[in-house]
Amino acid sequence: NPTRCSVIVVGAGISGITAAKVLSENGVEDVLILEAADRIGGRIRKEEFGGVTVELGAGWIAGVGGKQSNPVWELARQSNLRTCLSDYTHARYNIYDHSGKIFPSGVAADSYQKAVESAIQNLRNQKSNPDFAVSETPSGPKSPIELAIDFILHDFEMAEVEPIPTYVDFGEREFLVADERGYEHLLHKMAQTFLFTSEEEEEGQILDTRLKLNKVVRELQHSRNGVVVKTEDGCVYEANYVILSVSIGVLQTRLISFSPPLPRWKTEAISNCDIMVYTKVFLKFPHKFWPCGPGKEFFIYAHERRGYYTFWQHMENAYPGSNILVVTLTNGESKRIEAQSDQETMNEAMEVLRNMFGSDIPDATDILVPRWWNNRFQRGSYSNYPIYVNHQLVDDIKASVGRIFFTGEHTSEKFSGYVHGGYLSGIDTSKALLEEMRKENEKKSENQSYI
Ligand code: FAD
Repeated sequence: NPTRCSVIVVGAGISGITAAKVLSENGVEDVLILEAADRIGGRIRKEEFGGVTVELGAGWIAGVGGKQSNPVWELARQSNLRTCLSDYTHARYNIYDHSGKIFPSGVAADSYQKAVESAIQNLRNQKSNPDFAVSETPSGPKSPIELAIDFILHDFEMAEVEPIPTYVDFGEREFLVADERGYEHLLHKMAQTFLFTSEEEEEGQILDTRLKLNKVVRELQHSRNGVVVKTEDGCVYEANYVILSVSIGVLQTRLISFSPPLPRWKTEAISNCDIMVYTKVFLKFPHKFWPCGPGKEFFIYAHERRGYYTFWQHMENAYPGSNILVVTLTNGESKRIEAQSDQETMNEAMEVLRNMFGSDIPDATDILVPRWWNNRFQRGSYSNYPIYVNHQLVDDIKASVGRIFFTGEHTSEKFSGYVHGGYLSGIDTSKALLEEMRKENEKKSENQSYI
């Protein structure tokens, strides 16, 4: 017979771990966390590469230095997480063309300004007419430099076009996590506060049986009385409630089936939310051949194909002497390189680098290509709501269905897409559930007093 607990949390990323912690702090300790992977952290994930620790998923603490303190920044400070300030604004002065020439700063600044103005105009058009397609604009970006800037603006820096709550509330600075323990150290620290952990100083193993790894949830049967959860390995768990923290990409697939099925308003909202695929490709070299020093951390390659190995970063600020470059691809380009061999990706990246820095640069000695799109426990990197978000859409994505509560970065109206969005959503959802449990208990005791 399956044992029954109060709450099952599906997923041990930042939102799931935070939700379980808040429940436990509020006296709900018979919680079970079922995680599909063999580790906690989800989209916060480090890996050893080229002698240092790199972040395959979230890399920055975005939104620091403002009126309010970013709670993730607070967690990082408490854990002495090593970080370094990133300043993207210089990137626009390091735009290379295919023959390795850097665009003069005047040309780059003008193109930048034009692109910002056109993006603002597009947003206004979209606001007044939601069916407006950006491709309808006659003055859309065309030259390689315009395409590169358009890519940077839309896939990275919309803050220059429209106020973004993360920057408005928490400040405009961004810190790159550069710590051997990884960004995920924050999650381990949090887990240690309520789950039983072995006694090693820093990275104690979580031994608590309330966390179960390698448990792929495949079915949720829910009724007025409770929820039955079935996993791929044939285990069955029962609970009064479930908190489902899997990504919007996973919700859009058939990995988890619901019985009875989710209502139409819910499935429609889930399928209407866009997903961003964001891929950081890491390349290791025997020595540096790119410029370092102030204002040189980020550089841009202008190519006739939008988003083709456009955005580059060297890791000398984070790890001096590491000789690592990172190039970021998104969406279609991410899916394309996920489907090809890493050697092919390395060849393409090398050709781009040789265009920028000359033919005598050394070959990369190693490459790391994360595959967020093809990972069936992620199916993308983060939710991507339109800038003028329809509040009903987020409300529907977040709303509970009977005894199933939803959490995760995609349920955060203000901070979707970010680690702090995941963290704050975990708090919100668990508080909503605690309130629901309180009401249920109240009803029960009323009924008992009638008897
Ligand atoms: P997740 O971390 O996805 O947690 C959900 C968990 O559910 C996962 O552990 C998953 O394995 C598990 N799961 C899935 N399916 C099942 C199942 N069927 N059964 C059981 N478990 C299941 N944010 C920033 O703030 N700054 C950044 O610089 C940044 N960069 C990013 C770069 C990349 C490449 C990516 C991928 C993300 C980035 N983000 C960034 C976003 C940030 O990582 C996420 O918003 C946040 O980590 C999401 O946390 P979550 O708890 O909502 O989801």
